[in-house]
Amino acid sequence: MATPTTARPIKNPKLRFNWIVSDAFRWSVGRWRELRAKISGRGYYCSVLAGDDDYNLTINSDLTVSCNCQDTDGSGHIGDLRKNTFEEIFFGPTAQHFRDELAKGNVPIPTCARCAMRPLPESGVAPKPHLPDRGIMLENTVRCNVDCIGCAREGAANIRTSKQMTLAELTQMGELVARLIARIELQNQQQERDQARSITTSTRWNSFTSEYPQVAIARRSAPNKFMLPSAECDGPVRISSKVPTVPTWTLSPRGNSR
Ligand code: SF4
Ligand code: SF4
Repeated sequence: MATPTTARPIKNPKLRFNWIVSDAFRWSVGRWRELRAKISGRGYYCSVLAGDDDYNLTINSDLTVSCNCQDTDGSGHIGDLRKNTFEEIFFGPTAQHFRDELAKGNVPIPTCARCAMRPLPESGVAPKPHLPDRGIMLENTVRCNVDCIGCAREGAANIRTSKQMTLAELTQMGELVARLIARIELQNQQQERDQARSITTSTRWNSFTSEYPQVAIARRSAPNKFMLPSAECDGPVRISSKVPTVPTWTLSPRGNSR
């Protein structure tokens, strides 16, 4: 199959008018956010680097990892899967540098201004980062033969060392996703166990009368006697009646004015 090529090569799509406006807007929003952080004393955190975003974090066609999905100039590169594992990259020095700068109220790269930076909670402590459990993006190819006015895909293509993932690399991505899902399931199970434990302890333990939490599950046992179905009678004489034998009072439904 023929490889698609862009009809009109664009060396620097950022020279387009819409991108010049967009860059100016980002710069202005970035400075405003930094000023606001200085005035309020409240920094920011990134929901992507906290692991709480549906998308944004992107594995690019050359296996570099970008924190955002609009990283057309490489400023959002946080690592390279050819050199490190996903876990090492996500908790690595570049991602941590972005987290630290945001917490100080700085905007580490211009893209942040229109991305996933959020004000820190009132406690001033950013959420503890965990591996993404809601979604990541995969750029299996950067080749595109369309030229949408708002897209700087050609700029991204210019900095990718490989324009398309091989089958082996796609397999590697599948393994990574499977690993992340397995980890999520493990965390969920652990969370359920912790919740069950904390509910049991808090509801059963009276520290005035007992020196240790009593675990409810240890006190419960399965019923040791079941009613056997009777083989000697046909069951109830009457199972229903159209006419009630005693008066039955019911409430009128809501909205009934009578
Ligand atoms: S560009 Fe900024 S806000 Fe967006 S994912 Fe990267 S660090 Fe987070
Ligand atoms: S928006 Fe999609 S289809 Fe359009 S140029 Fe960008 S990558 Fe191609």
